[in-house]
Amino acid sequence: MDNHFDIIIIGTGAGGGTLAHHLASSNKKILLLERGGWLPREAENWSVKDVFEKNRYISPDTWYDHSGKPFQPQVHYFVGGATKLYGASLFRLRKEDFGQLQHHDGISPAWPISYEEMEPYYTKAEEMYHVHGERGRDPTEPPASAPYPHPPVSHEPRIQKLCEDLQKAGYHPFSAPSAILLNEKDPPNSKCVRCSTCDGFPCLVQAKSDAEIAGVRPALEQKNVTLLTKAHVQKLHTTEDGKAIQQIEVELDGKTEMFQGDIIVVSCGAANSAKLLLASANDKHPNGLANGSDQVGRNYMFHNSQAVLALSLEPNPTKFQKTLSINDFYFGMEGFEYPMGNIQMLGKSQGGMFKGEKPIETALLPMKVLDDIALHAVDFWLSTEDLPDPENRIMLDRNGNICLNYTPNNQVPKQKLYHQLKSMLGLLGMHPDHLIPRNAYLKTDIPIAGVAHQSGTCRFGKDPKTSVLDINCKAHELDNLYVVDTSFFPSIGAVNPSLTAIANALRVGDHLLQRMS
Ligand SMILES: Cc1cc2nc3c(=O)[nH]c(=O)nc-3n(C[C@H](O)[C@H](O)[C@H](O)COP(=O)(O)OP(=O)(O)OC[C@H]3O[C@@H](n4cnc5c(N)ncnc54)[C@H](O)[C@@H]3O)c2cc1C
Ligand code: SF4
Repeated sequence: MDNHFDIIIIGTGAGGGTLAHHLASSNKKILLLERGGWLPREAENWSVKDVFEKNRYISPDTWYDHSGKPFQPQVHYFVGGATKLYGASLFRLRKEDFGQLQHHDGISPAWPISYEEMEPYYTKAEEMYHVHGERGRDPTEPPASAPYPHPPVSHEPRIQKLCEDLQKAGYHPFSAPSAILLNEKDPPNSKCVRCSTCDGFPCLVQAKSDAEIAGVRPALEQKNVTLLTKAHVQKLHTTEDGKAIQQIEVELDGKTEMFQGDIIVVSCGAANSAKLLLASANDKHPNGLANGSDQVGRNYMFHNSQAVLALSLEPNPTKFQKTLSINDFYFGMEGFEYPMGNIQMLGKSQGGMFKGEKPIETALLPMKVLDDIALHAVDFWLSTEDLPDPENRIMLDRNGNICLNYTPNNQVPKQKLYHQLKSMLGLLGMHPDHLIPRNAYLKTDIPIAGVAHQSGTCRFGKDPKTSVLDINCKAHELDNLYVVDTSFFPSIGAVNPSLTAIANALRVGDHLLQRMS
């Protein structure tokens, strides 16, 4: 193979997969390097036991915490990256999230671009990822130049009742934006069959609009796009003057191969992108590539998330539960002036998912009891913003392994959000005192292993002294190096991160098309 390409994209998740699709029709010679393989299509995709108990799709990797204790992070090394398992809730950040916001524990910094600059790309991202939703119901919703491309996913009866109860109580529930290929008007021809194994599972029928389905597969229809799977990038080598990337060192089928590209885009996920830059240190970049600011790996964020289960007085036989969200407390509430965050539904719990979850002491309970709890469970996901802290960071140990140093912050608003939801349960047809924490997705005692929403390790900004990337997500210090995954976030907001990574990849893609024209 001729190993020289116009563009090489490393990683095929929300950032890389989207960018590949956007650039595919340019006729440029594009190479995608992905360390994982295709996620197998198999019956286990929808098995609670295999996915939730046996962690079948969590890729083997070992990271270390601040004390050197090893843990297995919740990472998914596949074509499509973490989106293969995601809940497909594709939210825009709020307009205010792009400005500076005062939080309980400090400042959430302003972004170097405005919401208005990102808006057209959010609209394109919603189109590309087939997002269902409804504008005009969420009081915190940012302005949008177009309606959602698809109607909101309907609530099933228990969630419809919850929606009505919330409205009666004076709140403003809205339809959660959802990226599934569902056609409720024509069920026999709908790709999505509306099942109960979506959030946290791969989609067996390829109806989840993830980065493989919406990005990589259509990109590969173009002859100028090549994908190499099981291609683990180890190091980026610069030219002698250190101003550009000259060679990419890849472990491919157990052998080392070198590739060259005019433009190199790193999109390995926030932790692994930082790892790659740090591991590529050389004489000209002694602290790691693009790291003259000493910001690579710092400001790691991953949301203050809480999965909780409320026990409904009536059964909750909902299958696809992720249809409702509430932002009434996003910016605070009466008596608490700081942002608290977003409440949304979690994928519907099933008895087998509770196995091994400490708060419910499930190990001692027979399956029938767990199934009974699940039948009455209404499952919520609460997200509060964690603030960028330079000491919360990815570093490498002497063997080149990822060390994640993370001290939680902004915990008071997280607790406020929890207690606020708890105080509302009586009005919502649920046992007023029972809001039970859950370990959704990952059975582990180490909360930092839940890296699903990792971001911030290569923040973009105008000042090379305080940021890694410029506003086009090009490294300040290298002419041909870009980063387009969630690493670029200067703050994380309190809604799920993927749509912002996708929209930004489209924005950076436009810049690259212009640069190469
Ligand atoms: C269970 C779960 C549920 C989620 N639900 C939602 C949701 O509902 N809504 C939402 O917005 N977000 C959700 N997320 C988060 C979302 O999936 C991530 O924010 C998003 O995928 C991040 O995109 P990325 O491009 O930064 O990284 P990723 O999507 O992780 O992609 C990184 C890619 O790089 C590859 N890679 C890594 N290192 C290398 C290397 N050295 N060489 C080559 N390839 C490499 C990886 O294999 C991977 O394919 C969820 C995540 C999980 C795990
Ligand atoms: S709900 Fe639809 S998109 Fe999600 S896993 Fe089931 S069939 Fe796939």
